[in-house]
Amino acid sequence: MVTICANALIGPDLEFVQSVYIQVDEQGIIVEITKEQKPITYLLPPSYVLIPGFVNAHTHVADAFLKDQGYGLSLDETVGPEGIKHNKLNTSTIEERRDSIQNSLEMLVHNGYTTFFDFREQGVEGVVLLKNILSSFPLRGLIFGRSKAEGDLEDVFNESDGLGFVDIFAVDKEIVKTTKSLKENNPEKLVGIHVSESEELLSNSLSKYGKRDIELVCDYSVFDYVVHATYANEDELSLLKEKNMCVICCPTSSLYYGLKFPPIESILRKRIILGLGTDNVLSCNPDPFRLMAFTLINARNNNQKITPREVLKSITVNPGLIAKKKIGQIKEGFSADFIGIDLENPNLKLSKDIYSAITMRAEPSDIGFQMYKGRLVKWKDQK
Ligand SMILES: [Zn+2]
Repeated sequence: MVTICANALIGPDLEFVQSVYIQVDEQGIIVEITKEQKPITYLLPPSYVLIPGFVNAHTHVADAFLKDQGYGLSLDETVGPEGIKHNKLNTSTIEERRDSIQNSLEMLVHNGYTTFFDFREQGVEGVVLLKNILSSFPLRGLIFGRSKAEGDLEDVFNESDGLGFVDIFAVDKEIVKTTKSLKENNPEKLVGIHVSESEELLSNSLSKYGKRDIELVCDYSVFDYVVHATYANEDELSLLKEKNMCVICCPTSSLYYGLKFPPIESILRKRIILGLGTDNVLSCNPDPFRLMAFTLINARNNNQKITPREVLKSITVNPGLIAKKKIGQIKEGFSADFIGIDLENPNLKLSKDIYSAITMRAEPSDIGFQMYKGRLVKWKDQK
């Protein structure tokens, strides 16, 4: 049993509570949170606040080897079927792909993530490669694989935590039927898809199917969540809510490709569960602090009202709800994944609001304590 004593953001609303004792069992599960004194294993200084480890709700960790080669190119030229990303993935050596993934996982851990959801390319082989590299990191990866060759969908599904479809053009009735039957026996596995990422994609969907992609995705009734929804209108968001689907937005990535800022305020107003992700590593580093500040500042610039606390929830609590796993909250029964931020560091000192300080001012160097499944990853002040 490990006990941490700290000020912490507790439960699904990230409520600030002073000096709580958090007990973690040998399996890395939080078994008790109490104000009652306990023998302490880790006493965090009073300037620290303990928060849930960050959850990156959408990544493509394999493309770090294309860092800074996509700026100025269009979405299609970068990540489209003939773009630089798939060209490099298909022509690179296994060592290059391993180094690329390794670099992304190092950044995720260094920047305070304890979980990430990855849309993994390259079929079964791609999933297995990521799983092997991931096994030596203090990091939980939920891997959503995709088909590479005809007939491999079941194998990909069995190796993964679910499926991540490229877009509506990668789906047909037969694939939906297979996916539904696979899910019946594995209801814990999730299925996601990129939707409404660009206007070009929407017009292609209209000309091929006579419908925009979100409506088609909702008709299929097999998806648990959609990624992007950047150009979703109010009716489409209402439809997503009606179908009980979650939305993951990647604002930095959308703006990197010259696309629109996603309708985050509307998504939250409709009480859709919102997760935020950093998307392709080639476009931006998986840095939760940069993502949160970028989102809040660009929301203002787009006349959207969202709060720092909502943004913090969208990279902790909400992705845990999307994953249907006991992660992303400091709560009894949940995985002991934490980071401790020192509010007396120069970046944060004098701030009068913890949520604004964490979302708009903090950076990875302000993380002084990090724990994954009850095991220490980092403790700057440990003597
Ligand atoms: Zn993506």
